[in-house]
Amino acid sequence: MYKKAFSIRKMIGGIKLKLPGYQDKVAWIDLSEEKIEYKEIGEDIKEKYIGARGIGNKYVFDNGPKVNPLDAENMLAIMTGPITGTQVTMGNRLAVVTKSPLTGTITNSHMGGWAASRIRWAGFDGFVIKGKADRPIYLFVENGQVEIREASDIWGKGIHEVVQIMRERYGEKDLSVIAIGQAGENLVKFSAILNEDDRAAGRGGTGAVAGSKNLKAIVIRGSTKNALKPEQGEEHKKARQTALKMIMEGVITAPKKGGLSVYGTNVLMNVLNEVGGLPAYNAKQSHYELADEISGEAYRKELLVSDPTCHACPVACKKEVEVKEGKFKTSVESMEYETAWSLGAMCGNPIYQLPFLRFLFHQ
Ligand code: SF4
Repeated sequence: MYKKAFSIRKMIGGIKLKLPGYQDKVAWIDLSEEKIEYKEIGEDIKEKYIGARGIGNKYVFDNGPKVNPLDAENMLAIMTGPITGTQVTMGNRLAVVTKSPLTGTITNSHMGGWAASRIRWAGFDGFVIKGKADRPIYLFVENGQVEIREASDIWGKGIHEVVQIMRERYGEKDLSVIAIGQAGENLVKFSAILNEDDRAAGRGGTGAVAGSKNLKAIVIRGSTKNALKPEQGEEHKKARQTALKMIMEGVITAPKKGGLSVYGTNVLMNVLNEVGGLPAYNAKQSHYELADEISGEAYRKELLVSDPTCHACPVACKKEVEVKEGKFKTSVESMEYETAWSLGAMCGNPIYQLPFLRFLFHQ
């Protein structure tokens, strides 16, 4: 599996390391022609652009500036990096890069979970998707192969339901589902692509770009037994442990003690508010009187049920919340700071205050 490594530019923990490397296989998928080509990344691109965001940006940039984001020729690049799928902590996220229907510029939007690692374990560094299918489809990815399959039966369904259907169809073991919901299908310009039910590539309208291609989902089966092995096994382990020690002892990151671990990214709400750095009411104020009600602390106290995490990360910054009864009964990932801030404090919008939610959920 191991193809190529190169020296990392910075030393980690005093050790000069080679990155674990690449599968050196990207699936270039033309949905209009229903054609799939498997291509190597190329040494010059690896050296210059390294991985996920860098290589994805390179591909989308080269696709040209005049592309209409919701036209078939726009490119959706879903890319991982050279440490993805290894035991390196916080290295197991992926980048969705495309021309954004929201801004008209390149967006690169990242998501955690397990899908990134499973892409690598399934034999790929990523997918570059162009064209438009003539009907709803999904991609099925396993053992270095991509297949285009019918998705008419799941078009119109929400992401949780799609994930559940795919788990029933293919079994839960080693499976990740990347999907769009109804917002993506209807080309909502800020719609997201998600994986593991709730892990969102939420910036720039990535969901609308997938929807414009009739691409409902990407289902990946990949097992850890196909993980890339670092060439310098011992040195790599030492460096990884050095980095991990810093994370385990960090004030922010220490598992079950650090602010990020206990409250998620929304730990920032009260912190920023206290230092007068929380933009509110369209940035007319730098303090929001209801900040505490939409903070990570409040959500943890009232609604939290579990702390999911990404592959190989002990921080577990994700916060799963549950509404146990009423017509809004649901289990869902809690808001990140950016969401709570931009749709809450920034808009002076009281909808996220817990008293309001209590009222809403018990209708
Ligand atoms: S759990 Fe949080 S801190 Fe850990 S890799 Fe995922 S997003 Fe990053």
